[in-house]
Amino acid sequence: MDHNLQLFNTLSGKKEAFKPINPPYVGMYVCGPTVYNDVHLGNCRTFISFDIIFRYLMHLGYKVRYVRNITDAGHLEGDADEGEDKISKKARLDKLEPMEIVQKYSLGFHEVMQKFNTLPPSIEPTATGHICEQIEMTKKIIERGFAYVVNGSVYFDVEKYWKENNYGELSNRKMEDLLANTRDLDGQDEKKGRLDFALWIKAKPSHIMRWPSPWGEGFPGWHIECSAMSTKYLGETFDIHGGGMDLIPTHHTNEIAQNIACSGHPPVRYWLHANMLTVNGVRMSKSAGNGFLPGELFEGSHPLLEKAYDPISVKFFMLQTHYRSTLDFSNEALQASEKGFQRLIKAVGLLDSLKASGTSDVDIQKIIGDTYAAMNDDFNTPLALAALFDGVKIINSVNDGKLKLNAGDLEKLKSHFNHFVFDVFGLKKNLSSADGETQPGLLVADGLIQLLLELRNEAKAKKDYAASDKIRDELLKMGIKVVDTKAGSSWEIEKKDLTHD
Ligand code: AMP
Ligand code: ZN
Repeated sequence: MDHNLQLFNTLSGKKEAFKPINPPYVGMYVCGPTVYNDVHLGNCRTFISFDIIFRYLMHLGYKVRYVRNITDAGHLEGDADEGEDKISKKARLDKLEPMEIVQKYSLGFHEVMQKFNTLPPSIEPTATGHICEQIEMTKKIIERGFAYVVNGSVYFDVEKYWKENNYGELSNRKMEDLLANTRDLDGQDEKKGRLDFALWIKAKPSHIMRWPSPWGEGFPGWHIECSAMSTKYLGETFDIHGGGMDLIPTHHTNEIAQNIACSGHPPVRYWLHANMLTVNGVRMSKSAGNGFLPGELFEGSHPLLEKAYDPISVKFFMLQTHYRSTLDFSNEALQASEKGFQRLIKAVGLLDSLKASGTSDVDIQKIIGDTYAAMNDDFNTPLALAALFDGVKIINSVNDGKLKLNAGDLEKLKSHFNHFVFDVFGLKKNLSSADGETQPGLLVADGLIQLLLELRNEAKAKKDYAASDKIRDELLKMGIKVVDTKAGSSWEIEKKDLTHD
């Protein structure tokens, strides 16, 4: 594989050259959603980031097995094994079967991911479909002396593990710091050590989701599902494991401990973590009240939203920030990127009609090289887009007759844009509406508004100010502001401030 792909590995804290264990095959596991409610836009950002990584690896020629699980059992309300199972609780509150909750929110998740034009993973295993594997793994961890049974539950012995392994490796923390930040065990606690976590939890009589096990009826802990399913589908050691950065200190740290306790060696070569989507600097989450849903975004029906946004331009907005940086949501930023996206798509639309010349005035290879260099530098999508926008300038200049490209360069430019805009970034020419139907999209909307602006200019030229004002005022009612300058008239989406209620 001829490339120089560098990945930022959370484990080493630096960028490393990507060398898969068994090229051209690549195994990638990403922690999927807990399906007890609708995914919010923050969750989507993480899954979109890994979709781009999946697509780019395939573009480079790798045969990727991408496993993204569905957590449909075992995720308790608190990270430290306290509270109710999220899905059981929702089922109890809604008076539904847990599997009705799981079905509803898994379907919703898939629908949303489709609107963002992400590819389905190669395998999407569920925790409830792999109870046997989780029990087997827990049994092995007990046999190897890293877990103990108390009253029908099984706990991982972190202190014992730490004597032989570095439990704090992924999060770069020392045992003293971790202990200082963990609450004391109260007299009632079954755990021996404060950092211990559950592999199997005894089900109380009222708990709906329960399975038989060697330790009595219960259900698996959250972390063991990912260790069991990644091992089953990708082997004891695989190439890439991903998820949101919030999973580093507990979920992923515990996954590593479980795998090492079970097999004796680290499970993953490269740990990749996506950063958070924030709103006014606060991490988007349901509990913070700023977790608007993709559906609300596509309809513009949340108080934080000025208008409806198209899923693909939202995706483009996300690509303008590197996956390891936080991305702050604002209407202004999103509207600015809508314009950028229109420019890109317009230029792609021109590619087929450009006329080739005998010679070329510019070096197309530079744009191609810059795009790959950016993507090979830990999937730097904003820089890759900047390279494509250099290409947009060239396309527009060739279209205006100010630059020349020969037939070979024109072909290269076309295939480069098609590969990156559609295959790697998964953008689409026709934007889709909230109900998922393909609509004529922004391109056509722009064309129609331009036509109205021309009619308005003609009305003005005839001194028919009633007609010209009517066009301006009616457009404004639709949220489209006409901007008159000496160079002519243009339009923009009318800006409003974010409301904070
Ligand atoms: P959950 O359904 O809570 O298990 O989360 C699913 C995925 O979304 C995990 O990889 C989280 O790290 C990720 N996630 C949660 N909140 C955000 C956020 N505000 N921005 C980006 N990713 C997030
Ligand atoms: Zn996981």
